[in-house]
Amino acid sequence: MTEYKPISPHQLPKFAGIKTYMRLPHLKTVRGLDFAVAGIPWDGATSYRTGQRVGPDAIRKVSVTLRAYNFAQDVAIFEHCSGVDYGDLSVVPGYIEDTYEKIEAEMCPLIEAGVIPVVMGGDHSITLPELRAIAKTHGPVALIHFDSHTDTGDQYFGRPYYHGSMFRRAVEENILLPEHSIQVGMRGSVYSKDDYDESASLGFKVITMSAVREMGLQRLIEIIKDRVGPNRVFVTFDIDVVDPAFAPGTGTPEVGGFTSAEAIDLIRGLKGLHFVGFDVVEVLPDYDVAEITALLAANIIYEFLSLIALNKKENDRGIA
Ligand code: MN
Ligand code: MN
Repeated sequence: MTEYKPISPHQLPKFAGIKTYMRLPHLKTVRGLDFAVAGIPWDGATSYRTGQRVGPDAIRKVSVTLRAYNFAQDVAIFEHCSGVDYGDLSVVPGYIEDTYEKIEAEMCPLIEAGVIPVVMGGDHSITLPELRAIAKTHGPVALIHFDSHTDTGDQYFGRPYYHGSMFRRAVEENILLPEHSIQVGMRGSVYSKDDYDESASLGFKVITMSAVREMGLQRLIEIIKDRVGPNRVFVTFDIDVVDPAFAPGTGTPEVGGFTSAEAIDLIRGLKGLHFVGFDVVEVLPDYDVAEITALLAANIIYEFLSLIALNKKENDRGIA
């Protein structure tokens, strides 16, 4: 039986009540959960605009309109899953190493208890401590990385951590399986001809946006699934992989990205993989228009929850 699920709009209207993700109970428990949605209000490692610290607030606010049955995926999420809004994890403003320690320490008990974390950023630098926490329980995992940037840079002003270097650090720390990992959606101006080769030399497969346009979504989904195989996988979704026409509220926008419909179809296509965690990062409400970026992020998370529920549904069917 599902222990924790959203408040019904027939009990309390959608516009009423304290805003949690999808009107889930706000609980700091690790018991009786399949997933926990958590915010990480951090924007101390950006290279251009800031304001991602209030991304989780904006996503929660618009997520109250989401309904529990995903028609396209034919899954009633809370018939198979129990989940909470775990609230925000704590950060130390201005101090990234301390923040990383806190994020890892707060995520470990969830992951050890078998709960799938679904994180709302925050700038993209938060994915590194998430992966560290994941690796403590699961060992190195595959990564599906949607972004217009590879985030495999090295130093930034002589420092190792910022929102453009996490995946280089993760490979160095042996917490990823780069041979089963893939980066999708890269585009825009870069520093040099070799930028994408750098990512490839770390072991990642890089699919640029122009390659996506040539091959189409179905082929792309096949390539991602082949690459990941049966391995445990973390999905990180930088909202800037979506075109700024659909997701203007972000810190380092690049023109020529996915439409919101394509992004949703892409996530739906991933069903059946062995997911161990998810995040959506880089939502920056100050630059948003009519909450469209936050709404898309809320829906991307909804699709993640649906993937978790579909795996559970398959399992339940297997046991029955
Ligand atoms: Mn990006
Ligand atoms: Mn990124």
